[in-house]
Amino acid sequence: MDNQFRIAVIGSGPAGLYAAEELVRATDADIHVDLIDRLPTPYGLVRYGVAPDHPRIKSVTKSLQKILEHPRIRFLGNVEYGRDLTRTDLDADYHGVIFATGASLDRRLNIPGEDLQGSTSATKFVAWYSGHPDSTGDFSLDATSAVVVGAGNVALDVARILVKAGDALRSTDIPGAVLDHLGVSRVEHVHILCRRGPQFAKFTTKELRELRALDDVDVIVDPSALDGIDETDLDKPTLTNLRVFREFADNRRTGARRTIEFHFSSKPVEILGDAGNTVRAVTVERTDTPATAGTAQTQELSAQLVLRSVGYRGRALPDLPFEAERGIIPNIDGRIINADGGDVSGYYVSGWCKRGPSGVIGTNRIDSAQTVEAVLDDIRSGKLSGDVDLTGDPAWLARHGHTVIDYGGWLYIDAEELDRGSAQGRERTKISDWETLRRIGLARAVTSV
Ligand code: NAP
Repeated sequence: MDNQFRIAVIGSGPAGLYAAEELVRATDADIHVDLIDRLPTPYGLVRYGVAPDHPRIKSVTKSLQKILEHPRIRFLGNVEYGRDLTRTDLDADYHGVIFATGASLDRRLNIPGEDLQGSTSATKFVAWYSGHPDSTGDFSLDATSAVVVGAGNVALDVARILVKAGDALRSTDIPGAVLDHLGVSRVEHVHILCRRGPQFAKFTTKELRELRALDDVDVIVDPSALDGIDETDLDKPTLTNLRVFREFADNRRTGARRTIEFHFSSKPVEILGDAGNTVRAVTVERTDTPATAGTAQTQELSAQLVLRSVGYRGRALPDLPFEAERGIIPNIDGRIINADGGDVSGYYVSGWCKRGPSGVIGTNRIDSAQTVEAVLDDIRSGKLSGDVDLTGDPAWLARHGHTVIDYGGWLYIDAEELDRGSAQGRERTKISDWETLRRIGLARAVTSV
């Protein structure tokens, strides 16, 4: 019994799942993990961030599912930290807690016109097409011209989805209503604004190359943007990106129905509205690459939709420290620290809320291993030997068990989505509203999990 520990992991995206896996792998302690999530569904950004037309990336779910099925890991969904579960509960019921809550908020541009109708964040657009139950956005896609701000992979995701005809997405898990909207999208031109030169873009080559395969889409790069770049010290991925941009620049226009145009050294300085306060254009200023300072050279791009894709940031959580500037929970190698630099004993972080929104899914494996090493060190040094009653369920769970959606409940939701998909000749159709998710997930009543 002395060697038994109960650890809570809050957040069941890749960072939380990899942390849970590392914890139960430990050989010098018998660790039981409660994997707690605000959503009734596991997999975090794999389900609600990875683009629906990237099934290969999404297939990581198969290996993540094995983690969920480990006998010492139990999924407890539909449980919100701060609402159903407090810091006091965690202190009483667990030897340690790892927060893996991600970075769900979007960054702003802080320019005039940012809140006009038709200007919003890529985060909201992604939540919408991913069928996130919190999504309230209704993207009717009446716009013929859209501006996407940012030179990262999320910008590429949203640009690609905007120009993909509905049929090209039919085989994905996109909710039916979203598919219908995308099917009648009028978007013809997507402008991607990159505030620095092509050698500084954060796109990955694979995602850039994918644009070549888009049906009835011309990808446009102004050749002059590639002139005079000193390649001496550039790394291989950047050089490969430049090769792809050169290919785009060399391409002749085919007169395709839709275009994606990259604008380098270009930043938005104002979003302009019409009389009804709806976006009509974006004022774009040339920058002085590699810096982002403006040059006072401006042009107006006609657009009725603006999606800013300039990174995510984390949300402050109740009773935990928060570093507002970076949007992360302050930590040293995964141990949460207070303003005075001392660690908050027994509390840890992993994933985007630990390091900020960077890297690919696999990056979280390494990140979580580092955090779990800190947990295990603290177990070995006797720091986590608190007075936790391991004989029954945690007290908070006894209170909330009837609203908890466990792994079996999630499998009900999963099966329903597959059924709905197959009825429409698709692999899966996501359920995107809280009420239905809860109704199906709770059909398997959970009193004692
Ligand atoms: P990101 O890669 O950090 O890119 C953010 C972009 O926004 C950068 O180009 C940045 O430019 C620009 N930016 C920041 N502030 C700006 C401002 N005020 N005005 C104009 N531009 C601004 O972030 P992300 O695209 O959100 O992606 C997050 C993470 O998820 C990344 O690690 C990404 O690779 C990953 N991801 C991967 C995939 C995939 O593998 N398929 C798909 C989606 C996301 P500067 O460089 O000049 O700061």
